Amino acid sequence: MSKTIYCDKCLKEIKVRDDLVTSTLLFEVIPYHEDCYTKDLKGIKTLFLDNQPLNGFSGNVLFFLAIIIAIGWIVIAEGSLKWLSLLAIVPIGYRLYSYYNFERYIPS
Ligand SMILES: [Zn+2]
Repeated sequence: MSKTIYCDKCLKEIKVRDDLVTSTLLFEVIPYHEDCYTKDLKGIKTLFLDNQPLNGFSGNVLFFLAIIIAIGWIVIAEGSLKWLSLLAIVPIGYRLYSYYNFERYIPS
């Protein structure tokens, strides 16, 4: 099963995993070339575009931090506050969405 991933800015195919940056724009996960992402970050879209990529090293660090926070919170929080751990699950969901919808289709 394969799927071609197109950059949201230049609309060209993203061929290499290292060149892929995924981020969220108005809660939607969007694929970019690394260069295109940088350009959009400097443009008008920066108001809505998350300046933290979902994938790559920093994205993975945040992913693991979010898991630790979510689990830690479930363990330490009082019963009625446990739902707040859902806030930490949101970035986990974005990260998984990015992987399943974009990253796994692009060879590294
Ligand atoms: Zn592009």
